[in-house]
Amino acid sequence: MNCENCGAPLKVAPGGNYLFCEYCGSLSFPEEREDRVQVLGEISDQTCPVCRVNLVSAKVARQTPALYCENCRGLMIQQETFGKLVTHLRSSASGPPDPPRALSEAELRRTLYCPNCKKRMDTHPYYGPGNFVIDICSACGLVWLDHGEITAIVKAPGRDRGKKEERRRPDITRIEKKQRRGWRFD
Ligand SMILES: [Zn+2]
Ligand SMILES: [Zn+2]
Ligand SMILES: [Zn+2]
Repeated sequence: MNCENCGAPLKVAPGGNYLFCEYCGSLSFPEEREDRVQVLGEISDQTCPVCRVNLVSAKVARQTPALYCENCRGLMIQQETFGKLVTHLRSSASGPPDPPRALSEAELRRTLYCPNCKKRMDTHPYYGPGNFVIDICSACGLVWLDHGEITAIVKAPGRDRGKKEERRRPDITRIEKKQRRGWRFD
């Protein structure tokens, strides 16, 4: 992406929440697109496993770094941040959930190759909410999400939806609460 003011290429700010121009000091805050993606636009040497164009840097929900395909709008996210992202998005979700959906056999049969190690990715049902097929390379710790998949996972029905993330409390508080309710401890 280039600076709207002077045309120089923009750099991603530390933390990755906006872009800045080294020449004129302009800042640029990319708008959120579908799937809560903000495109930062640094070109990666990794290519899209679906359409082979170079992926670009992005951020999801202002917290999770990702690589994004500007062609098919798929996302590659680190496996260890993916679970946290889903928990965060689902707990803050509002509005009614989507009706339950069936697992897609066609998606299960698809073959994708990891952009990092070039080996075949594992295509399997996602064990979280909803019947989704996701592609994972466990060796590289990467998850590939097709366009719309993260949004659909957030809209899948489930009791964790719309519950704000629970703050961690010291154990003693939980024990006291349980005792007040008359639960037994051995
Ligand atoms: Zn500039
Ligand atoms: Zn693509
Ligand atoms: Zn890999």
